[in-house]
Amino acid sequence: MKEHSMLKFTELDLREPILRAVAEGGYEEMTPIQSQAIPYILDGHDLVGVAQTGTGKTAAFSLPIIQKLLKAEGKRTAKATRALILAPTRELAVQIADNINAYGKYLHLRTTLVYGGVSEKPQIKTMASGVDILIATPGRLLDLMNQGHINLKLAEFLVLDEADRMLDMGFIRDIKKIVQQLPKQRQTVMFSATMPASVESLVNTFLKDPVRVEVAPAATTAEKVTQHVLMVPKSRKRDLLEFVLKNEDLKRVLIFTRTKHGANKVSQNLEKLGISSGAIHGNKSQNARQKALNEFKSGIIRTLVATDVAARGIDVDDVTHVINFELPNEPESYVHRIGRTARAGASGVSLSFCDPEERAYLRDIEKITRQQIPMMEDHPYHLEGLSAHLNGGDIEKPKTGRRSGAQSRAIRAGKPKPGNRNNQPQGPKKAHGAKPQGNNSQGAKPQGARPTAAKPDSSGGQNKRRSQGQRPRPSRD
Ligand code: AMP
Repeated sequence: MKEHSMLKFTELDLREPILRAVAEGGYEEMTPIQSQAIPYILDGHDLVGVAQTGTGKTAAFSLPIIQKLLKAEGKRTAKATRALILAPTRELAVQIADNINAYGKYLHLRTTLVYGGVSEKPQIKTMASGVDILIATPGRLLDLMNQGHINLKLAEFLVLDEADRMLDMGFIRDIKKIVQQLPKQRQTVMFSATMPASVESLVNTFLKDPVRVEVAPAATTAEKVTQHVLMVPKSRKRDLLEFVLKNEDLKRVLIFTRTKHGANKVSQNLEKLGISSGAIHGNKSQNARQKALNEFKSGIIRTLVATDVAARGIDVDDVTHVINFELPNEPESYVHRIGRTARAGASGVSLSFCDPEERAYLRDIEKITRQQIPMMEDHPYHLEGLSAHLNGGDIEKPKTGRRSGAQSRAIRAGKPKPGNRNNQPQGPKKAHGAKPQGNNSQGAKPQGARPTAAKPDSSGGQNKRRSQGQRPRPSRD
């Protein structure tokens, strides 16, 4: 039986050129999802992984598939691919391709991307001579398959990444049509941040006797982020945003809105104020989205305003702050949003702007994350009289003690610098101290370099676990 609790990449049965590329990427130790999943995928099992972006899941499926493609006999064939990776968004597909190209840089694998919003022609041309790995979003892939430009009959591997989001985005029928075209004899790997019944049903349809691995449920990921809620009337949110951005500690800031229109408006307003900004959402062309993302990654722009769908899977290191300009109506989205900061073990800060109409959303968020988000009152637009709800309700109280230095520092992030006071916009209420509401202590201590994992099991094949129902259970239970 195989011991699956190893920690270093060098302990894996991976070819030297892959290990060299991984080492050059700066990775030595595996993340929990990697050490749990890679050995099983190398062994040829179907696998379902419950893990979010930020856990290292891309390498968890890419590395063993690259290794297996090198070993397998298969040859490239016109219009065909040997491995198919399906992703919900173009951004995620691009990111997966970037990772695979980095891991495969000493190999001669041919990879390509197929997604909508750009011309089909170059995609058709690349596919004409066949590829080893095709990374695609479902809609465009199906289009090109229907036109006879892509043939999946020879695919040996299928990966469904962010399966829950693909279903949320309405891709179920496309995915079914795509998978029908794949050979029955194949290895299938699926990753999903959550396991609702709809995803479970995909697992039952597409995977054969899969191994299940699971890391850091949503609530645990949120713990690494120092979170605050700022009560503010809707009409003053723009002013509040300007106010908090006066603090230069907010270096690389991802701002979320609920709507595409809202994202544009917020971004344009920031530009007017002289704060560099870009926006990404579904109505922007692929080129415009990629440009904004690249500028944000390279630090040319300080703020990026995004909708939930567009931001899904975005992998930008060193996002110092996530600002929820509007709270999401699905509480899971909150966890995804704030997970864009505190990546790969770093700590991060989130600021959520909440107007009276959004209180119900806040309550839902606090329920699923099982924590009270401390309130930051120390800003000029604080709305009195809204705090009460935070101290009531059926939220399980966190167990640990007082606010830590890390939290206090984060709170100061919202304060004007000394001497700037007179320049601050005047709002309905004067700042009056950074007293937190409730007794939250979540995120008090920025955690170590790794996301927490479900304990790796060393029982070899015996750790085929059953899923734990609709939503991963917070580890605090
Ligand atoms: P992912 O969950 O695949 O989106 O990966 C999240 C981030 O973790 C990416 O920035 C990766 O480059 C990084 N990463 C992946 N594997 C490791 C590792 N073993 N050690 C450190 N960082 C990693």
